[in-house]
Amino acid sequence: MNPIAAAAAGKAPAPGVPVAPTLLIHGGAGTILRANLTRKAEAAYRAALAGALRAGQAVLMAGGASLDAVVAAIRVLEDDPLFNAGHGSVLNHEGHVELDASIMDGATGRAGGVAGVRTVRNPIEAARAVMAHSPHVLLAGEGADRFAADQGLAIVDPAYFLTEHRRRQLDRARANDRIELDHDGRVTLAPPAPPVPDQDNRDGQADEGKFGTVGAVALDTFGNLAAGTSTGGLTNKRWGRIGDSPLIGAGTYADNGTVAVSGTGTGEFFMRGLVAYDIAARVRYLGVSLSDAVDQTVRCALDERQGQGGVIALNARGEVKFGFNTEGMYRGEIRGTGEPMVSIYR
Ligand code: ASP
Repeated sequence: MNPIAAAAAGKAPAPGVPVAPTLLIHGGAGTILRANLTRKAEAAYRAALAGALRAGQAVLMAGGASLDAVVAAIRVLEDDPLFNAGHGSVLNHEGHVELDASIMDGATGRAGGVAGVRTVRNPIEAARAVMAHSPHVLLAGEGADRFAADQGLAIVDPAYFLTEHRRRQLDRARANDRIELDHDGRVTLAPPAPPVPDQDNRDGQADEGKFGTVGAVALDTFGNLAAGTSTGGLTNKRWGRIGDSPLIGAGTYADNGTVAVSGTGTGEFFMRGLVAYDIAARVRYLGVSLSDAVDQTVRCALDERQGQGGVIALNARGEVKFGFNTEGMYRGEIRGTGEPMVSIYR
């Protein structure tokens, strides 16, 4: 059984086997069906996810910290327009890209996040800088952009983030008066309207099921966990809407004693259910397994409330779990010097 299948089945590594540095990533969950992806598109996703896993693996195998591996993997995905993070992120109602990200160190409990930034090329680096170089946990808007610039991070013109595909996606969402989870156009937080059909689906992908928020969780050779998440949020979001991704406990959480988690899905449900922390709390207070904790949280915080999404979770014993209630989740795992394992569908 490959590690992804083993994880889906909630299996732990054999006892006594030393725990190899491990990295899990996701590139969003949603209506991701085989029938909606061309072979070419699927190959592109697989290559992108494998590239991110390799970037994180290089850090871990050089003896680097899990925090650095998380940043390295997420940076690759932020730079790739396939995903709803960094370059190629979804647009808000006014046609701007506003980015959210967070990171947490499982060894110390320190954390950092940025929300609604418009000029930081790699928001995950800004989140890390907030954690490492500010007395705060979460910075938002212009101040966060200014802080990132002061920290010497790469600053770009907001046009850098824009892609034509996202412009068309926003036009459709606005025409339908919908606020959309990127990779699942059916999810709506506004009253439903008759859909405007996608005229732009010329590349063989279901346009609304195309991209996603990104995240990573890692375990390093020192036994330390870290988690990070980065996103452009929801298409057609309004009024400075912030999602779960920059919020510690909602979209991201890491604690060496319990678990590292990164989530993706309708952020409002992750915020109401404190999904990432809820998983850790179940492990800590109920003493349930990582796998059971993820299943329980997905059921209570998402299924039972009609929320959609998924999580990647990893503990210090190297147990992993991919949990989601959507048709698919772009995801991957790499252990030690092993090969990247990538999965997309349920
Ligand atoms: N969770 C993100 C948000 O609500 C969206 C996503 O996961 O794609 O901002």
